[in-house]
Amino acid sequence: MTRFTLAALTFILGQTGLAETLLVGTQEEYENAVDALEPGDTIVLANGEWRDFEILFTGKGEPDNPITLTAETKGEVVITGQSNLRMAGEYLVVSGLVFRDGYTPTNTVISFRRTRGDLAYHSRVTETVIDRFNNPERQETDFWVMMYGKHNRFDHNHLVGKSNAGVTMAVRLDSEESQQNHHRIDHNYFGPRPVLGSNGGETLRIGTSQYSLTDSFTVVENNFFDRCDGELEIISIKSGRNTLRGNLFVESRGTLTFRHGNGNLVENNVFLGNGVDHTGGIRVINFDQVVRNNYLEGLTGHRFGGAFVVMNGVPDSPLNRYFQVDNAMIVHNSIIDSDHIELAAGSDEERSATPVNSVFGSNLIHNEDGRNIITVHDNISGIDFRANALNGVEDSPLSDGFDNSGIELRRADNGLLYPVDDALADVGVSRDLQVLDRTSTGVSWYPKPGADNRFGTGETIGIDPGLDSLTDAAAGASAGDVIAMAPGEYLVTKTIVVDRPLTVQATEGAVTIEFERTALFELVDGGSLKLDGVTISGRAAPDVAGNSAIRTSRYSMLNNYMLVVENTTVEDLNTNHSFNFFTLAKHTFADRIEIADSSFTDVTGHILEMNRETEDLGLYNGEYVSITGSSFRNIEGAIADIYRGGTDESTFGPHFELRSSSLDSVGNGSRNKSEASVRLHGVQDTDIVDNEFVGSQPVRVTHIVGEPVTVMSRNRFDGTPEPLLNEI
Ligand code: CA
Repeated sequence: MTRFTLAALTFILGQTGLAETLLVGTQEEYENAVDALEPGDTIVLANGEWRDFEILFTGKGEPDNPITLTAETKGEVVITGQSNLRMAGEYLVVSGLVFRDGYTPTNTVISFRRTRGDLAYHSRVTETVIDRFNNPERQETDFWVMMYGKHNRFDHNHLVGKSNAGVTMAVRLDSEESQQNHHRIDHNYFGPRPVLGSNGGETLRIGTSQYSLTDSFTVVENNFFDRCDGELEIISIKSGRNTLRGNLFVESRGTLTFRHGNGNLVENNVFLGNGVDHTGGIRVINFDQVVRNNYLEGLTGHRFGGAFVVMNGVPDSPLNRYFQVDNAMIVHNSIIDSDHIELAAGSDEERSATPVNSVFGSNLIHNEDGRNIITVHDNISGIDFRANALNGVEDSPLSDGFDNSGIELRRADNGLLYPVDDALADVGVSRDLQVLDRTSTGVSWYPKPGADNRFGTGETIGIDPGLDSLTDAAAGASAGDVIAMAPGEYLVTKTIVVDRPLTVQATEGAVTIEFERTALFELVDGGSLKLDGVTISGRAAPDVAGNSAIRTSRYSMLNNYMLVVENTTVEDLNTNHSFNFFTLAKHTFADRIEIADSSFTDVTGHILEMNRETEDLGLYNGEYVSITGSSFRNIEGAIADIYRGGTDESTFGPHFELRSSSLDSVGNGSRNKSEASVRLHGVQDTDIVDNEFVGSQPVRVTHIVGEPVTVMSRNRFDGTPEPLLNEI
């Protein structure tokens, strides 16, 4: 065992022990060393990869004299494989570790407890990275950080890319030892969390409904939530007396939700949606909540995901439903260029308890165009509106308590908008509100991810016609590369496995691709594909049922992908029955599927088969599907068969758009069980506009959950039944 003391030995006054620093190079050395640690000692993991390392860190440090576990060089100790960290004891500090290229074999990556009865107190995890440390099975639930015990701190950590089910971080109050915990969660970088496509994608949860009437006293401050898109709740507060202040939310879908628990304070937070779909702000439920001095701008979310939402409750609500809003203090917030403020939201037969004893005062609501963004869903006489300002909204449902004249805003040095008129100085957020400095969050030695541009960011690789020239080029391409195909005929004898973003393009003239396997392209984890200007023919495909031009991996995929098809011709997918253009497997998820200016002829299956999540668990296969300016002729299946079952309301999608397209003889095949040309089951947002349907099966739409918006207009139906809408 390597054992040495620091060059500069540290004697602690009043202590007999000598603070030691122990460098360990193997798991065995670590385990031997950890048993003998005294207050003030530091155990150092040697640089390098530590594979399959379940770190158990226990000990009793003292105030100002903790026991520390750290890295030889921060960022150069990488914990991989089946690994995790459990800590228990007092005054423990962990820093500098990176969890990457693996996942936890238990339900948690970093746990502030060893067992249910052996917790951590006065302990800290800092400057630690968890990067895509995901169970490979998308719907296998686990957690990255679980805080138990009391007086613990989680700060300056970098958590990015959780893409399997399960909240990223949770504070647990499941025993007395973990209640009234006074934890601090500060200066963390909560990086992009992709859309999960089901419940269980929260970034931070404090408590659970079961213990929600218990106070937590957790402080969440100065954290950066960057593109935390997992699901409807970015943060779910489910306990009492927590404080959330000074946090920055950028382009994050969903809201900070006071889901359960009372007496919470949310102040000095900044939400910047930048117009991104489904970006939301704050949703208020329960008693004694204070929401003050928060700045919200450019948020597009609606319904429960709006910029600002005050819910209706359930009379005598059980713990897991909705308590009435009572004694809420909502003051000095600025809500700017956002789309929806919802009051008494969720009003229905069950949620009939309207907000009471509440104040909505000195808030600034400003949309440049003066349109109304406030929707009142029920009686709001229990909210006292005073001294608010609106920007000359003609049809505002609220008048008392609002100054509704034109307001000019100007951006101040802190980047936020304020009224120019001094008479409005006391409306909206304070002048001294500080926007969190992003570089003060996370760690300096691990970069925060930039924009997610997938296509056309790399080199252009020119190829000529020939046997497998496309296959070879795709195998050698880097992420973002464009394969530019010279005119001619290409034969592909192996399925092209796409594990990085690739563009396949014909620019100079006609390119025809034929393929001899059951699929031409297979998208696997990390892959995205853009086709531009090519012709894909199924003529050389095997004479077996169930071929696909493109398919996803048949197994669970952690990474969301994108498929773009432009100016492309697809023909003769008919060597046998059920030949799909695109087949999606269970537990795979598309961020976006786009078909534009393309034509499809003679297909025996579906164009987009997205109907494999049939257990009604609230899962589905893709967030946005858009088909525009395209034609479909003699398609035996549907052009889109999308299924999203279940009654859970945690997701945003799926979204479906069909525009300026023509369908001729679509859906008439005997194997097309849904008897639809377009079948949308549980889709949340549908636009079917300006299309022509000839001799086709009808559009069939089933609404099952939420308040789905379906727009169908300017469509022509010739020899095709009118669309059928079914409300469940
Ligand atoms: Ca949820």
